Amino acid sequence: MSAATPGIIRPMVGRDSAFFWEGTAAGELRIQCCPACGALRFPPGPSCPRCHAFDQSHVVAAGTGTVFSYVVHRHPPVPGKELPIVLALIDLDEGVRMVGEVVDAVPDGGGPEDIEIGMRLRVDFRRVDDELTLPIWRKA
Ligand SMILES: [Zn+2]
Repeated sequence: MSAATPGIIRPMVGRDSAFFWEGTAAGELRIQCCPACGALRFPPGPSCPRCHAFDQSHVVAAGTGTVFSYVVHRHPPVPGKELPIVLALIDLDEGVRMVGEVVDAVPDGGGPEDIEIGMRLRVDFRRVDDELTLPIWRKA
């Protein structure tokens, strides 16, 4: 039996996003795509914003991207997290933008890197428990 780790804010996993979390568990960053027209979309949704088809498929992203913007979250406390944390809007090389936590990148935090806009990132995966693996990002 898997036991959910207490004290962690868990993402909502619904019909439209299950493929994403199955992907992170498998070490893949998946992007929803439309099999009808090929458009990529993030966040996942039930239909294609370009051609309105209801079919869904996904591609596996290369796992690389660029920092579009970021915030350093120092307060208030986040359950299960040691602050500060860096949250970035990341432009994936595939052309979609997603939010992600960047590790080892707090400005003046004593880590190896300070985050900056335009920094190249590479995805990694942090297994929380049997039910949740989170994508995290590091300097590429
Ligand atoms: Zn489409």
